[in-house]
Amino acid sequence: STPHIQTRLLIIGAGPGGYVAAIRAAQLGIATTLVEARAPGGTCLNIGCIPSKALIHAAGEFAKAQACAAGASPLGIHASGITLDIAQTIAWKDGIVQRLTGGVAALLKKHKVQLVHGWAHIVDGKTVEVRDASGTATQRIGCEHLLLATGSQPMALPALPFDGQTVISSTEALSPRQVPDRLIVVGAGYIGLELGIAYRQLGAQVTVVEAAERILPAYDAELTQPVQRRLEQRGIRLYLQHQVIGAAPASSAGGAAGVVIRPAGNATAEALTLQADQVLVAVGRQPRTAGYGLEDLPIERHGRAVRVDDQCRTSMRQVWAIGDLTGEPMLAHRAMAQGEMVAEIIAGHRRHFQPAAMAAICFTEPELVSAGLSPDQAQAAGHDVLSAQFPLAANGRAMTLEGTEGFVRVVARRSDHRILGWQAVGGHVAELAAAFAQSLEMGAHLEDVAHTIHAHPTLGEAIQEAALRALGQALHV
Ligand code: FAD
Repeated sequence: STPHIQTRLLIIGAGPGGYVAAIRAAQLGIATTLVEARAPGGTCLNIGCIPSKALIHAAGEFAKAQACAAGASPLGIHASGITLDIAQTIAWKDGIVQRLTGGVAALLKKHKVQLVHGWAHIVDGKTVEVRDASGTATQRIGCEHLLLATGSQPMALPALPFDGQTVISSTEALSPRQVPDRLIVVGAGYIGLELGIAYRQLGAQVTVVEAAERILPAYDAELTQPVQRRLEQRGIRLYLQHQVIGAAPASSAGGAAGVVIRPAGNATAEALTLQADQVLVAVGRQPRTAGYGLEDLPIERHGRAVRVDDQCRTSMRQVWAIGDLTGEPMLAHRAMAQGEMVAEIIAGHRRHFQPAAMAAICFTEPELVSAGLSPDQAQAAGHDVLSAQFPLAANGRAMTLEGTEGFVRVVARRSDHRILGWQAVGGHVAELAAAFAQSLEMGAHLEDVAHTIHAHPTLGEAIQEAALRALGQALHV
């Protein structure tokens, strides 16, 4: 018969949510078992955040080297014979992934978390069966608390199903065997644009199709403008307000994949066929809720996501859910923070998930960050808004880094200068996210930031200058 073990906390999924919950629980003396079907680290370390940022960096370096070879470097750097060994690029990226996933496995071991390899199938809210690749049950685990951290998966377009070769998701796009001559990206959200820009820099002709009227529709237009401009400069073709209505047969003119698009919301408008070698579908991600017995649990949902309260409790007693499974915003740092919190609540701490800020970043060209409220959101929330921006063109460090396009913006309450949000767009601004989140979490006012001495020359000075400008005291603009 199947061996049965008993544990206090059973976690399904070793992504950033699940593995952080496991480590924190073990630190707090909770006997913890973690079931994972693949390598630890989840989407984020294996096929998400980390490999995408590695590929983006490599593509950027290649583009810079090529600019030098084309005599287009203002720095006086000349180069010739620039080539790309994509197999080595991918091996380098895979090496980073392996170091990180190996690191997570080592941390779990150090903290004496029991990591069980296999596919978890929920029997009831207190019992999980672990199955091997053939579907045979290898273990039955009983638990007091069940934590669901099964993450999300790429959404498919019914009109253009994934085939893993010509119609691909971000997963395949992160491990190209060769750079396609022509790539169509469906979806101008952050995943589609990050990868689309990287492929352009690696040499592909890239066309982006987006149903909304502008790129990165989750962010305000002022913030996304520099990204849009750069797409145009890079020669990326954009079809905004266009919908994919189906696949087109491969054409005799070459190209293994084709898509038929039409102006969004206009069924009588003329359709257009685009040809390419590959189509990357990046139209969003959906919580992973099927295939492991979740459907049979009487658990409340909102849409596809599992509904949780501000402690990540589901509607079932002692069943918890965190991370992408619980819906937007699907971010690794949110999953981690929720995982840490659930472990602490189970250990008896008083905790609630009420962050003042969860910064969202697009590692596009240039980068884009948003934390807290935008001016429009603050206004809609009923605040009398005081907002100011500081252009990176007036920041010395930005000049030395060749990244003077963009700005840092602060949003504050006019009455008492309490900071409500930060946004930035520009080269390297992703690294400002920590300062943004910290000031929001600490309830800072404009004066707190304006009167902190920011080291020179750094991009961080633009944060201070934005706060100074909101107070009518900007020094460098
Ligand atoms: P996941 O990381 O999805 O982990 C879930 C794990 O559960 C998986 O390992 C899966 O194998 C396992 N699992 C599921 N069901 C079972 C089962 N029944 N039995 C056993 N194991 C199971 N976020 C950011 O914050 N910053 C970024 O820059 C960023 N870039 C991204 C780029 C790309 C291309 C993609 C795809 C995502 C990116 N994300 C980014 C999103 C980020 O990856 C997710 O928000 C994060 O991984 C969610 O963590 P999670 O723990 O909820 O789930």
